[in-house]
Amino acid sequence: MPENNQISEILKKFNNDRSRLMDILLEIQEKQNFVNEEDIKFLSEKLGVSGGEINETLSFYHFFSDKELGKYNIYLNDSITANMKGRTEVKKAFEEACATPIGNVSEDKQFGLFSTSCIGMNDQEPAAIINNKIFTQLTPYRVRQLVKGMRDGKPIEDLMYENFGDGNNADPDVKAMVFNNIRRKSIILKNDYEPYTFLKGKIRDYSPEQVIKVIEDSNLRGRGGAGFPTGLKWRFGSRTDGAHRVIICNADEGEPGTFKDRVLLTQYPEMVFEGMVIAAFATGADIGLLYLRYEYKYLLKFLNRKLKEMQEQNLLGNNISGIRDFNFSIRIQLGAGAYVCGEESALIESLEGKRGEPRDKPPFPVEKGYLGYPTIINNVETLATAVKIMHHGANWYANFGTKDSLGTKLLSISGDCKLPGIYEVEWGISIKEVLEMCGAEDAQAIQVGGPSGMLIGMKDFDNLDKTTLMRWYKPSGMMVAERFFDRRLSYSDLPTGGSIIIFNNQRDLLGDVVLNFMDFFIEESCGSCSTCRNLPVLMKMKLEKILAGNGVKKDIEDLLSWGKTLKASRCGLGQTAGNPILSSIFNFRHLYERHVQSLKEFDNGFDLEKAVEPYMDFVHRKPMFHHF
Ligand code: SF4
Repeated sequence: MPENNQISEILKKFNNDRSRLMDILLEIQEKQNFVNEEDIKFLSEKLGVSGGEINETLSFYHFFSDKELGKYNIYLNDSITANMKGRTEVKKAFEEACATPIGNVSEDKQFGLFSTSCIGMNDQEPAAIINNKIFTQLTPYRVRQLVKGMRDGKPIEDLMYENFGDGNNADPDVKAMVFNNIRRKSIILKNDYEPYTFLKGKIRDYSPEQVIKVIEDSNLRGRGGAGFPTGLKWRFGSRTDGAHRVIICNADEGEPGTFKDRVLLTQYPEMVFEGMVIAAFATGADIGLLYLRYEYKYLLKFLNRKLKEMQEQNLLGNNISGIRDFNFSIRIQLGAGAYVCGEESALIESLEGKRGEPRDKPPFPVEKGYLGYPTIINNVETLATAVKIMHHGANWYANFGTKDSLGTKLLSISGDCKLPGIYEVEWGISIKEVLEMCGAEDAQAIQVGGPSGMLIGMKDFDNLDKTTLMRWYKPSGMMVAERFFDRRLSYSDLPTGGSIIIFNNQRDLLGDVVLNFMDFFIEESCGSCSTCRNLPVLMKMKLEKILAGNGVKKDIEDLLSWGKTLKASRCGLGQTAGNPILSSIFNFRHLYERHVQSLKEFDNGFDLEKAVEPYMDFVHRKPMFHHF
C-alpha cells in the first residue's frame, strides 16, 4: 500500500488510536473533501481493523462522504420551522444559482447542495451551514448574493450579510451571525454567575459524598428529556469500580426545534464545564468528554479556548483547585451528524469511533460505558443547573417549580410566534402562559418536546374554565385519559426536553407538519431494529394514502396499532417515531376522519384476514396480512 503522508500525519496526531476514528475521518474529510476507497484501505492497514469497520463509521454520519463534495458545501436545514419560514423558495434559489438539484454536487464541482435535519437555528430560519459557517434568515435574494460571492471565489467568512450575533457570537473565535435570542431569564440564566466560584473555593468544604447528597436533595432531574434523577445517576457512577470513571456532557441536541444547549454553550460555557468538574469530583471521574454535535462546530475553537483557560487556572488537570489527587481533564469530541447519537449508548459508540447504534441494556453506561469504564452522561442544561444548586443549596432550589418538577426549564420556542428564542421558565407554567409570553396569537397546535414529544391542540391551552375535567374515550367507551386544564409543563403532565414549536391556524398539520416529522424519523433511524426501520415508512405511506383521499377508517386503526408495535423498538428513537401520527390522531382525530369520511364507500367492510381464515386453518398457518 503506497504511503499517504497527509493521512499518516493525521493518524500520528491521534496516536493511531482506532477509538479516535471519528476525529481521523473528520480531519481527512476536512482536508480532501471526502474519504475515498484508497483512504479506507490505508486506514484499515494502519489501524489494524477491517475496511468494513471503517466504512461502517464513514457511511453512518450525514457529514461524512465517500464521494467528492463541492468546493462549497451547503447544508440547508429541513426542519418544519425552516419550511414554515420560506425554505421552499430558498431551496429553489440555491438550486438555480448553484445549477444543481438539492442532494447533488454541481457539475463544475463548485457546489454541494444538501438537505439536513434541524441544525439548531429554529428561531432564525431558514438557515444553512456552508463550509462550517452558519447562515441564518436566508432569503432568495441573499442566496443569490451568497452564491455570486462564492462563484467570485470569496472566502466564506467574507460573505456574511449580517453583523455577528449578540454576546459571544461575536467573539473572535466564534464570529457567527447567530443570535442567542434570550427572552426570559430566571435562576440559571440570570446575570449573577461568576465563573468557577464554587470550584475555586467552596468545593474544598465538601466531600464527594456531600456533593451527591446536595444534588439528590435538590431532586434535580435530567434535562435532556428522560428526567432521570441526577443525584442517583452520580451515586451509581461513584459506586461502580473501574480503572477510570468518565463524565460525558451530551451536547448533541438534535431534537428538531431545540437550541437551548447551543445558547448555553455560547453564552455560559464556563457554567457547563464547571458542572462537569463538579460531577467529576462527586463521582471520582478522571476522564471528561463533551460530545458536540457537528452542526455546532463553529463553537469548537471558542470552547477549546475556554478549556485552555481552565487548565491555566488549575481548574482542569492534576490536583484541581489544590485538592490532592483530584485529576480530571475534558476533551471535546465532535459528532458528524446523527440524531440517534443523542441516545446515551449510541453516543458512547460514536465516541469510540463507531456507528452511533444504541447498545442493548443492561449493562447501563454507569456500569460499563465509554471504553468499558463506568460512565455518567449528563445533558448540558443539567450540568449548568447543578452548578447553581451547589452555589445556593438544595433548599433554595426547592423554591422554584412544582412539587414533582422542581426548578426551571429552558425552552426553545419557535414557529408561529412574534418572539421566538430562549425562555427560562419555572416548571408548572401553563401552555397558555407560554403562548402569551412569546406572542403566539393564533395557535392551532403546539409540538411539545419536538417530534418525539406530543402535538397538542386548543383544548389543552384555551379552556377558560380551568377546573374543567376533560376525558377521552375509545370508540368502545373505554376511557383512555383525563386531564384538568390548562395543561402545564411538568414531568407529570407535559414533560419536555425544551422544544416548543407553535403552529397557527393556517398550517396544514397533517400534510406539512406530521409528514415532515415522519421524514425526520425515517431519515434518522439507525436501521438495526426492523420495527424502527420499517414501520415509520409504512405509517407515512398510510398517512399519504389518507391525505390523498384514498383512506378508509381502518387505516386510522392500523396507524394506532403500528404505533404501538413501534414501542417495542430498542431505543427511544424508534419508540417515539410514531408519536407525530399517534399524538395527532389522539388530539386531531377529526383531521384524519375528514379525509376518510368522504370516501367511506371504499370501506366495503371486506376483511381479508377473516376471509382467508378457514384456508389458513387448513394449512395450519396464521394469517399474516397487513393493510397498507
Ligand atoms: Fe436504531 Fe431505531 Fe432500533 Fe433505535 S429503535 S436502535 S434508532 S433502529
